[in-house]
Amino acid sequence: MSVRCGIGYDLHRLADGRKLMIGGIEVPFDKGPVGHSDGDVLAHALVDALLGGAGLGDIGTHFPDSDPKWKGANSLLFLEHARKLLEEKHFSIEHIDAVVILERPRLGPHFPKMREALAKSLRVPTERIHLKAKTNEGVDAVGRGEAIACHVVATLSL
Ligand SMILES: [Zn+2]
Repeated sequence: MSVRCGIGYDLHRLADGRKLMIGGIEVPFDKGPVGHSDGDVLAHALVDALLGGAGLGDIGTHFPDSDPKWKGANSLLFLEHARKLLEEKHFSIEHIDAVVILERPRLGPHFPKMREALAKSLRVPTERIHLKAKTNEGVDAVGRGEAIACHVVATLSL
């Protein structure tokens, strides 16, 4: 068995009146990410980690933001597509570890639902998806509440 790791990163600006979508779940808040799709940083970083581990390029290659098809798209669709690409290459998803960086609101209470949604899209047990939240200690754009960021490491086997 061969093991591969992929890394993914994403950041979106936050604006008033947008839905805060993270890990396929809407988190109640007065601001949300600006983006061509639903701006789900966790889903986007996860797609990049999966594609990276499998050597299949990145999210921009597969879902160009110039394509009107993806305007306002639910990012779980991107995850399902990435999962199919991995399956075609016979990769299994062993583990996902993610850090979402956001000043407010607290994400911990929403993690069980996010893990469930992500696990369903990827067709893996929820135990394989690990989520963590950090604030940026008031520093930089994320710390001022102007942006949300996410880092993901995906471990794949072949
Ligand atoms: Zn994104």
